[in-house]
Amino acid sequence: VEEQYRQAQKMEALGQLAGGIAHDFNNLLTVIGANAAFLDQAIAADDARHTDVDEIRGAVARAGALTRQLLAFSRRQPFAPRELDLNDVVQGAESLLRRVLGENIELVTRLADGLPAIVADRGQLEQVLLNLVVNARDAMPDGGRLEIATFAAADGGVTLRVRDSGVGMSAETQSRIFEPFFTTKEPGKGTGLGLSTVYGVVGRLGGRIMVESAPGRGATFTIQVPPPTAAPAAPAEAQDETGPSAG
Ligand code: ADP
Repeated sequence: VEEQYRQAQKMEALGQLAGGIAHDFNNLLTVIGANAAFLDQAIAADDARHTDVDEIRGAVARAGALTRQLLAFSRRQPFAPRELDLNDVVQGAESLLRRVLGENIELVTRLADGLPAIVADRGQLEQVLLNLVVNARDAMPDGGRLEIATFAAADGGVTLRVRDSGVGMSAETQSRIFEPFFTTKEPGKGTGLGLSTVYGVVGRLGGRIMVESAPGRGATFTIQVPPPTAAPAAPAEAQDETGPSAG
């Protein structure tokens, strides 16, 4: 509990810092990009330096993508929790997820019948699914199998399980995956923000996330979402994000 709380505070602080830096950085990128475009026009068509300018513009584009991700991570998006059916969210995202996974990864969904409703923000749940699926894809460069399953939990809540047949993780990696900016991916491929975002969303739902993995044995992420509390959710307009519950 203590550890969860510390993690939440660390994320909050890092999120604010990242957001501030990303915003200013983005303005600087605009200047670099505009000047590169100007140079591109200023030099003759057959000038070999077009390659250099293209490199600058490519780097600007990649840096822009990174800052957008940072901004999305730190932004306090309007949080609109509603009663919804998790199966519905999975089914709605399925075609997008298939496209993300590509042809070499088989996607299997096993959705439980009679799943109780949960109270959550649909967009955030979609983001959770997308982040887990992107990671699973990256863990299966030679193809494999991804299973997304839902279960009714004994406490009246629901469980979401995402299991892949990918490269898996060492215990040491597992202990750090929810830290903001922790990544084992090559520069430009990973930001290390995916799972910390997932962690934040699950925390706001009062839920828990667990991982089971071993090198070469795939990875299983299990998210438990508690049943809606007796008290009705606050109106969406007035709701502000709060940190992960300490429970
Ligand atoms: P990123 O994807 O940008 O690296 P994440 O926070 O989403 O950031 O993930 C952090 C790290 O957790 C990844 O770099 C990877 O080492 C590990 N990881 C996450 N999901 C999986 C998975 N399904 N299989 C193996 N490793 C994973």
